[in-house]
Amino acid sequence: MDWNLSLLFVFGHLLHWGSSADGLVRRLFLRFYIRYEVPIFKLALRFIYSRWSDFWIFKKLFIIFIGYPVKKWGETGYPLLASEVKDFIASLPDKTVFSLGDCRCRLSVKGPCERYHQGLCPHPLLTEIGISWGAVYYKKEPPEKERHRVATREEILRVIDDGLQNDLVPCLYSFCIAGGIEGREYVICNCCKGRCAPILLRKKGINMMMDGHYQARALPENCTGCGDCLESCPLDAVSVDPVLKIGDCFGCGLCAKKCPSGAIKMVAR
Ligand code: SF4
Ligand code: SF4
Repeated sequence: MDWNLSLLFVFGHLLHWGSSADGLVRRLFLRFYIRYEVPIFKLALRFIYSRWSDFWIFKKLFIIFIGYPVKKWGETGYPLLASEVKDFIASLPDKTVFSLGDCRCRLSVKGPCERYHQGLCPHPLLTEIGISWGAVYYKKEPPEKERHRVATREEILRVIDDGLQNDLVPCLYSFCIAGGIEGREYVICNCCKGRCAPILLRKKGINMMMDGHYQARALPENCTGCGDCLESCPLDAVSVDPVLKIGDCFGCGLCAKKCPSGAIKMVAR
């Protein structure tokens, strides 16, 4: 018997089950991932803020063995503009289950945020929005199973609006084990620049996120150099000295929202 072909056949079927949004294999992996997500992020950040990450070879090994597989076959997400996140929620069927719980990053990642370390963080903790199977499994898994609860569509829209007022970025995460993103969304995080693990990793050159559908475009002729946009960018991608420039942009839209002179526009990629 050709064992290679048999294994391929079995593996193909597993991926087939896993590749549907409700697939058994995908749900098993999702539940496993939700249980161990926090220790994975803690380890990743501990590594990236250690001196080991200064060595090119260790960073490359991290990307090959953790960063790439997690992004490709585990979890990945992208930022949404305010209008997009509302359209996405409106597009979900009436029977969709939502949940609300503590942000896992702000709960467990200290990060470099000075305001947090001074006890001045303005962001609420209750901003993690589970969707469908995400809502089911978040309620069952530590560290926040005590506080995670079912929420209504109106409630989660309010949480997103409050987050946008506070400069949080709604990011839509999918969990997929056979490639593909759409239909596999399981959580909307409302991310901040100081303690969001995927944002902190991207700033250190390990990109486990995807770019959003839009990107910032600079219109330097409108820029007065006031600097209101500088602090807002989660990736520190905006500079105005000597002229307005945008670097690595994942498309959150915060800089365009802050600019009083219309010098930054969000345009489709
Ligand atoms: S440049 Fe603007 S849109 Fe791009 S990531 Fe920074 S704040 Fe967000
Ligand atoms: S907020 Fe607008 S006008 Fe002010 S520095 Fe930034 S881009 Fe220029």
